[in-house]
Amino acid sequence: MSFVTRFAPSPTGPLHLGHAYSAMLAHDMARTRSGTFLLRIEDIDQSRARPEWEAQIYDDLRWLGLAWPSQVLLQSENARAYGRALDTLWDHGLLYQCDCNRRDIRAAAQAPQEGAPLHGPDGVIYPGTCRMKHPRIGSRPKGVALRLDLGKALGKMDTTPTYAETGEHAGSHGIDAPERTIGDIVLARRDMGTSYHLSVVVDDAAQGITHVVRGADLAEATGIHVILQHLLGLPTPMYHHHKLIRDATGKRLAKRDDARAISKYRADGASPDDIRAMVGLPSLFQKNPQG
Ligand code: GLU
Repeated sequence: MSFVTRFAPSPTGPLHLGHAYSAMLAHDMARTRSGTFLLRIEDIDQSRARPEWEAQIYDDLRWLGLAWPSQVLLQSENARAYGRALDTLWDHGLLYQCDCNRRDIRAAAQAPQEGAPLHGPDGVIYPGTCRMKHPRIGSRPKGVALRLDLGKALGKMDTTPTYAETGEHAGSHGIDAPERTIGDIVLARRDMGTSYHLSVVVDDAAQGITHVVRGADLAEATGIHVILQHLLGLPTPMYHHHKLIRDATGKRLAKRDDARAISKYRADGASPDDIRAMVGLPSLFQKNPQG
């Protein structure tokens, strides 16, 4: 079986130990399986992405000893593909325009009769305020937020899809009560014309990813991704959600935890093998006795 994986950082800050672990683990897995390790830059949020962070990512990854095919997928250059996927969902009547802001959503979700609001991977589960508000005829509206009508989407499927994991959570996984755990998520943000979930699903298929290796913090989003793959007729890869690297107090490393930035360790004289030892990966040399 072929093995194609990827590392998909957002260039919104320095790579820290957690990112390095994710990238090195995916790279090692590809190497031991004679597979391919690809790179994707997740820069749909152009208000936060910076070219200098992107350049630093390439530099840090090379320093760590990783190599990848020169064709890197930049999400900021792939808007047409996201638009096509949204058109497909719109044409199937599965999207609707949403005009709510965060405050509206919190207020509606906290209506006293509803009890405590339910939370999903994107925060409070959307209470459905705009579901019936706008007509879903004609072509897809642009420059507005579009949500997935999850109830309708699930109604179109014979069974709720499942997916398989390797690693710590190896086995087949179902998606538990999607209406309560996922809800009508935003697939096109007003400011970006797409969303993390939609772009990841479209790009994993476009890059031919067979194995998604990423942190356990993204395991919660996998149900959404698998549902979208089914709706869009795309293959479901194998998933491998790995442990998260934590600081000395047990807290997960934050995006901007500059103290653990790879560049900081480099400046302090650490070697790539020191970084490997810190996150519990074998030395580069140990794995490659021939080399
Ligand atoms: N861009 C995401 C991040 O930096 C990773 C997305 C993914 O691996 O699916 O957390």
